[in-house]
Amino acid sequence: MDLFGVNVFNDSVMKERLPKNTYKALRRTIDEGLALDPSVAEVVANAMKDWAIEKGATHFTHWFQPMTGLTAEKHDSFISPTADGRVIMEFSGKELVKGEPDASSFPSGGIRATFEARGYTAWDATSPAFLKEDEGGVVLCIPTAFCAYTGEALDKKTPLLRSMEALSKQALRLLRLFGNTTSKQVKSTVGPEQEYFLIDKKFYEQRLDLLLTGRTLFGAPAPKGQEMEDHYFGSLKERISRFMKDLNIELWKLGIPAKTQHKEVAPAQYEIAPVFETANIATDHNQLVMDTLQKVALRHDLVCLLHEKPFAGVNGSGKHNNWSMTTDDGLNLLDPGRTPHDNAQFLSFLCAVIKAVDEYADVLRVAAANPGNDHRLGANEAPPAIISVFLGEQLSDVFAQLGNGGPKSSKQGGHLTIGVTTLPALAKDSTDRNRTSPFAFTGNKFEFRMVPSSLSISGPNIVLNTIVAEALAQIADRLEKASDFQAELRLILKQIVNEHGRVVFDGNNYADDWIAEAERRGLPNIRSMVEAIPVLISDKTVALYEKHGVFSRVELHSRYEILLEQYAKNVNIEAQTMIHMVKRQILPAGMKYAAELAQGIGAIKAVSQASVSVQEGKLREVSAALASVQQKLSELEKACEEAKSVADTYAQGVFYRDVVFKAMGSLRADTDRLEMQVDAELWPLPTYAEMLFLL
Ligand code: ADP
Ligand code: MG
Repeated sequence: MDLFGVNVFNDSVMKERLPKNTYKALRRTIDEGLALDPSVAEVVANAMKDWAIEKGATHFTHWFQPMTGLTAEKHDSFISPTADGRVIMEFSGKELVKGEPDASSFPSGGIRATFEARGYTAWDATSPAFLKEDEGGVVLCIPTAFCAYTGEALDKKTPLLRSMEALSKQALRLLRLFGNTTSKQVKSTVGPEQEYFLIDKKFYEQRLDLLLTGRTLFGAPAPKGQEMEDHYFGSLKERISRFMKDLNIELWKLGIPAKTQHKEVAPAQYEIAPVFETANIATDHNQLVMDTLQKVALRHDLVCLLHEKPFAGVNGSGKHNNWSMTTDDGLNLLDPGRTPHDNAQFLSFLCAVIKAVDEYADVLRVAAANPGNDHRLGANEAPPAIISVFLGEQLSDVFAQLGNGGPKSSKQGGHLTIGVTTLPALAKDSTDRNRTSPFAFTGNKFEFRMVPSSLSISGPNIVLNTIVAEALAQIADRLEKASDFQAELRLILKQIVNEHGRVVFDGNNYADDWIAEAERRGLPNIRSMVEAIPVLISDKTVALYEKHGVFSRVELHSRYEILLEQYAKNVNIEAQTMIHMVKRQILPAGMKYAAELAQGIGAIKAVSQASVSVQEGKLREVSAALASVQQKLSELEKACEEAKSVADTYAQGVFYRDVVFKAMGSLRADTDRLEMQVDAELWPLPTYAEMLFLL
């Protein structure tokens, strides 16, 4: 435990190393969001540099999160030459606070065409600086926001910070109405459960598809999949537990509270979950978790696959984004609490979330969209693409009673007089654990389960913060004007139940009936990423984000373009990879086998009368399969050519999904059949059985 946070410039380090006044000023910036004085930055920079150098750092970097979804860093050394030919180690307040990377090499969705190419990174003092150490050395990383010269966000952190402010502002309004005079801030808290696969590095290296796209584009199913249900929570092989031990050490050093680890449902699949933190830090930390998973895996000759669907036929990976709201003085606003008064407040916040999720289900859906997740949502492993809220038996019952003018009884049978001030004390664990719901209340938080495993959790949390801020704003607007607070609140909650109760569903989300039922309820079922993206630029969405200062119209249009482009590029790379592999590996293997069969037949016939009917049958079969693969290959090549000429980005996205992606599917079906027909010795790719079971 001595390890925890050793590589973090955290509160205790700051307290120890900064002059009292500087420390206090910095804390005010961190806790209350006040602007930082340049002289304070100067002192902090110096202390940070000394600390980092003592720990072996030679370089520093502004660490940011551009729209690629990855993190970016550019290392600068601390050295500064002096007149007498030596160097001193320097790091100024200016260098801490602001950087100027070239914005033109990062996705900007057209922003940089209309504005200057310059971009800025700005220190986010609310997320602690840390040291990244590996065999390459030690680097001081300063979490930063990244924006264009003109102020438009070019990253995933800026809008997240804005959305946290919006949520805090609106939640405080409601808290004040409930008589809370002490809380100064409301923060969203997030605990992301991260799923991933591990495979042996030697197999990974033999597969161009894994190397370039993160998923297998070919592969006949292994004779065994996950049907025995023997992997989930199973005991860990020593190689894996060694990896996890190493992983935990690295994460703890970075101050990441990694807590839970276990095997997941699919063979070779695992999960890691940290203790929750504020949304901003949780997001930074989740990026570091993904980085560290990959880095540490390699040390063990393993490769960590973060793709949503690395293997067909077994479960893919997601991220469960646990989300709640907590005041700076430690009150979880989604905790039902013990006293009736707390419950009234709790129910108001709960209803605000339900209203938000129903009103903006499509905005939430697009936050869970990436190319990989198209393989999962709606398949029988991840929640369907329809957003609904699971409340659990007891809360659903209370919710329903609110709609009838106020609960008269509770499921526990206790007596209840309504008024929202007098609701039953709700038992925390009375919810059963529905695993099929995309948005489930789990005791004192909501769990958004649609999030793709490789995606930054920034997007989903921006949406949650903003839509809940909007619902809270609407509630506060009415309550602030009301002459009878109790009566108005009762009415508001009743209306929310009646208007938004349709989004509450406690049943089995995997059942076919639900799809029909959801349609009857008028809930959107947005099946693919491309279909989801236009929501970003609808008038309703723009109005929402602009009202709360989270995204401007320009920023939304930029993100719309970026997502469409990412989708098209992603499918195109996958298709090109398939074409390469089929031409250079799969067809040659099949042809070699056919030639071997032919030679064998000839050789046998030359020396004997023995029957060669099996060989001849095989040869016919393989030749026919080869012809079919060739045919599908040509179709895919043609589709890719055609896709390039579709000018409109949205139409192009649709074309990639409907034509190119489909052609990829039929090519794969053929090659997977061929795999079963060809001599295993000749097959050029590691099989599913090897990758999933040889660890
Ligand atoms: P399960 O697998 O049952 O969903 P886990 O223990 O794996 O549960 O994960 C639960 C996650 O929820 C953890 O990351 C935890 O930190 C997080 N969590 C708990 N309370 C809160 C909260 N108030 N706000 C946000 N996340 C929370
Ligand atoms: Mg979970």
